[in-house]
Amino acid sequence: MHYPEPISKLIDSFMKLPGIGPKTAVRLAFFVLEMREDDVLDFGRALVNAKRNLIYCSNCFHITDRDPCMICDDSSRDRTTICVVHDSKDVIAMEKMKDFRGLYHVLHGSISPIEGIGPEDIKIAELLKRLADDTIQEIILATDPNIEGEATAMYIARLLKPTGIKVTRIAHGLPVGGDLEYADEVTLSKAMEGRREI
Ligand SMILES: [Zn+2]
Repeated sequence: MHYPEPISKLIDSFMKLPGIGPKTAVRLAFFVLEMREDDVLDFGRALVNAKRNLIYCSNCFHITDRDPCMICDDSSRDRTTICVVHDSKDVIAMEKMKDFRGLYHVLHGSISPIEGIGPEDIKIAELLKRLADDTIQEIILATDPNIEGEATAMYIARLLKPTGIKVTRIAHGLPVGGDLEYADEVTLSKAMEGRREI
């Protein structure tokens, strides 16, 4: 089926988003045509602004609009503990839980030999750099409970062994093969509480 070019461009753009197939893309594109022009402009601006104005914190690599991010800059937070996560969505999930008052480190990926992602492709060297500061007493590995997340946790744990810093892994209250960001707050809170030294 041939659509006028502006619409087929819009459909193609929606299809670049994760989880959006051709049918949904067509539905969304036609929905946009029905929207009020102001709302469409707001939507477009929100997309551009999010891309232009967000940067990564130079300390923890969480998304932020200022550097250092609000979490790293908050002097009331516990600076002896760093929780290591896969991406910024996990930081937001952990923050919703409100139990954790330490700092974070966002890896921006997991080690995955199948996908050709090695330790040098994620922010592990940057984590080690942060440890040069001797205030850090515990590293909590809160990578996802799937194969890649476990491999990443094991790799980091081995790397940190000689430093003598306490390394813990969150408990398996989380569904195996799951994704940290989708865990509910109670499950996440329990997983943190039940963390074990590795
Ligand atoms: Zn930060």
